[in-house]
Amino acid sequence: MLHQEIKDNTLDYALQLDKEDALKAYRERFYFPLQENGNPYIYFCGNSLGLQPKHTRNVMEEVITAWEKRAVEGHFKGDNPWMFYHEYIVQQMAKIVGAKPIEVTVMNTLTTNLHLLMVSFYRPSAKRYKILMESDAFPSDRYALVSQIKFHGYDPKDALLELKPRTGETIIRTEDILTVLEQQGNEIALVLIGGINYYTGQLFDIKTITQKGHEKGCVVGFDLAHAAGNVNLNLHDDQVDFAAWCSYKYLNSGPGSLSGCFVHERFAHDKSLPRFAGWWGHNPETRFLMPNTFDPAPGAEGWVNSNAPMLSLAAIKASMQIFEELSMKQLLNKSHQLTGYLEHLILQLKNERIEIITPSNPQERGCQLSIRVKGSGKALFHKIHSRGVIGDWREPDVIRISPTPLYNSFADVWKFVQILKDCLLED
Ligand SMILES: *Cc1c(COP(=O)(O)O)cnc(C)c1O
Repeated sequence: MLHQEIKDNTLDYALQLDKEDALKAYRERFYFPLQENGNPYIYFCGNSLGLQPKHTRNVMEEVITAWEKRAVEGHFKGDNPWMFYHEYIVQQMAKIVGAKPIEVTVMNTLTTNLHLLMVSFYRPSAKRYKILMESDAFPSDRYALVSQIKFHGYDPKDALLELKPRTGETIIRTEDILTVLEQQGNEIALVLIGGINYYTGQLFDIKTITQKGHEKGCVVGFDLAHAAGNVNLNLHDDQVDFAAWCSYKYLNSGPGSLSGCFVHERFAHDKSLPRFAGWWGHNPETRFLMPNTFDPAPGAEGWVNSNAPMLSLAAIKASMQIFEELSMKQLLNKSHQLTGYLEHLILQLKNERIEIITPSNPQERGCQLSIRVKGSGKALFHKIHSRGVIGDWREPDVIRISPTPLYNSFADVWKFVQILKDCLLED
């Protein structure tokens, strides 16, 4: 929402926006956690763990019941036989990331998938062995990359290149990424960046980075943990080589649920790519003949190792049913409005201690705003929490607030900013 379009700063106005919200009914389809006094929390932590859709329990129960009633025959019998359960999920998941179904699968968890994909896509050589990532990335990604570099016998001090913002800035400029690729691209084997940085909320220019990386002969992958279900993605058209994301943040599929995984179509039939194999990645047409030699299934499925945990798939299915009802455009319309409204109200506080470090351009961010409160500590965050808000605190002084378009309201945002204002007065 453009700031000049926001007419006033009252709760009545927020309630009016809620009334006009085309997605307002979706809020009722999620459970909100409750405070001790029985009131729901204002929940802004969808970037960490999405809320539970109310019908998830039923979809999971169908699996529990099929297991109870049919045991092993649940694989092939019943309304939703487990053997084919992933097909619907993959179709819908592919739409969310702008991919073809053959390019997407759901397996393992995110960090594990990054490793499995790097087995195929990080193939260092004496001349080209470096990995380019963003600084202040999610720690798990850094651990994974450093361990891969060491595994291949290289020294992370030399082989891991970290993109840093310019001095005094918090956002990494695309032009600076392109310069690094231009100057050092010939030594870079892999570019692996978080599509949205978890700390600053910056959305990177996936298309431009991929193009430039390819121009210099690098493989380009993305960790989309904070991007999937949150921003518009076009992994196929943007020519991204591979990507992985978790399903428990903006995809509302429950704690530790399975990770999505993308491998571009141009590798779909490339059986020469080295990979770590398992029986569930074997060509399904001959899998149960139990042959001795591995024949990878076409597409992303060829990277799967094990048969899927059905309870987790059920939770993902429940979430996908919600996403299926909406276009990404509808979701993003509300998202831009809601986050723009949050930004507007925070700026209206005119509090000198507050700095929003997330880019102000809606095209360079998702729903999350990272709010730096200078001179504050975690006590401020605890105070906000005790007033009924679940957000997220990152040392040393950043509060991350993610109003998600599926279940947050304009009134949520308004109330949070009032609470922030009050707590700052006392801080
Ligand atoms: C949430 C998140 C993870 C979590 O990894 P898991 O393997 O699912 O525990 C990893 N990387 C990024 C960038 C994340 O945001």
